[in-house]
Amino acid sequence: MEKVIIIRYAEIHLKGKNRGYFERVFSVNLEKSLKGIRHELHRTSGRYLVAAFEEARAEEILARVSRVFGVHSYSLGYRVPADLERIFQAVQLVAPVSGTFKVDTHRADKRFPLTSMQINAEIGGRLLAQNELLKVDVHEPQSNVFIDVRENGTALVFGKFEAGAGGMPVGTSSKGLLLISGGIDSPVAGYMMAKRGMNVEYLHFHSYPYTNEQAKEKVLELARLLSRFALTQRLTTVSVTHIQEEIHAKCAPELNVTLLRRFMFRIAERIAKSQNAKCLITGESLGQVASQTIEGITSSNAVVTLPVLRPLVGFDKNEIIERAKKIGTYDTSVLPFEDCCTVFLPEFPAIKPKLSFIEEEEGKLDVEALVQEAVGNLEEIRF
Ligand code: ATP
Ligand code: MG
Repeated sequence: MEKVIIIRYAEIHLKGKNRGYFERVFSVNLEKSLKGIRHELHRTSGRYLVAAFEEARAEEILARVSRVFGVHSYSLGYRVPADLERIFQAVQLVAPVSGTFKVDTHRADKRFPLTSMQINAEIGGRLLAQNELLKVDVHEPQSNVFIDVRENGTALVFGKFEAGAGGMPVGTSSKGLLLISGGIDSPVAGYMMAKRGMNVEYLHFHSYPYTNEQAKEKVLELARLLSRFALTQRLTTVSVTHIQEEIHAKCAPELNVTLLRRFMFRIAERIAKSQNAKCLITGESLGQVASQTIEGITSSNAVVTLPVLRPLVGFDKNEIIERAKKIGTYDTSVLPFEDCCTVFLPEFPAIKPKLSFIEEEEGKLDVEALVQEAVGNLEEIRF
């Protein structure tokens, strides 16, 4: 009897002609997520099996599988030869010790001598005979015993379906560049696009020495946490210190944030193109702060041609916080380090800046030289 993890995939099967491609990406992603753990990955009619792993690492494998997009559900169970005695041995390991239960058999191999119903009755009967604390309830059982008789002469036995992360395999929806701050929102935005199958690269702006090394460390940690889902392992950092000093010295203070954001977008677009990313991703949510009005969004979009995806645009802050907690980035996001946007923050930022005013103020700067200088000094961290 062998302990295995059964993985069933999600939306992939909807993709018709592309199915082969989706499955290849999915299995590569599963392999990536299991890196460093000895195992075998098998594909068997519409599902994957992780086998040949050390039992002590089963929990860790389950945790990793739970973060792979495209996984619909997964189960820890046993693989045995399709033989009633061997099946019952495995059943005893997954069956509850008390309460109500139901045996639920799926028989893919119609050559197996008993029908699904007969297997249910036989196995259920044996469990009842063995343990008087058990009772059958086929309508609302407290526990289940699932038996899956496969075509290849084996049977899978398990007790639970755990919900997977859903979504689509990362890499099947091209690549995007996430503008990641140290805040709560942008990591969640990255998570959401990765969930839709996008490869996510990370870009962070800092204002060293106004912001410190720890702020960068914090973003690196967030990128690491996200990479457990998004699987990409590169963070690009760019200093916007000189840009902020120039804006501060020469432009109307109420436009500080607006102008800085336009610089961020221009720089991000150039880096995105060099990394073959097809869009920018931000954690903006409509109306959350002064720069996240439709006017603010319009003014930043105006300087780029790549699409800007804002998956949180319609979310309330508390909804975003809930997700951040669920994906495990919240505790790191709330660590108190400065972000570059809080340096030189004006007392009254413009809420609905006029494009003509923005362009007039920006005209006081050598935009192209500043962008080139920033991009020229980027740093790349692989983790
Ligand atoms: P977050 O919680 O992601 O920091 P926020 O609510 O603080 O977002 P803003 O500061 O207005 O909002 O930033 C909006 C978006 O701009 C962020 O979600 C992020 O995508 C991007 N951004 C802001 N600051 C930075 C930065 N220092 N580096 C990279 N991207 C940034
Ligand atoms: Mg922020």
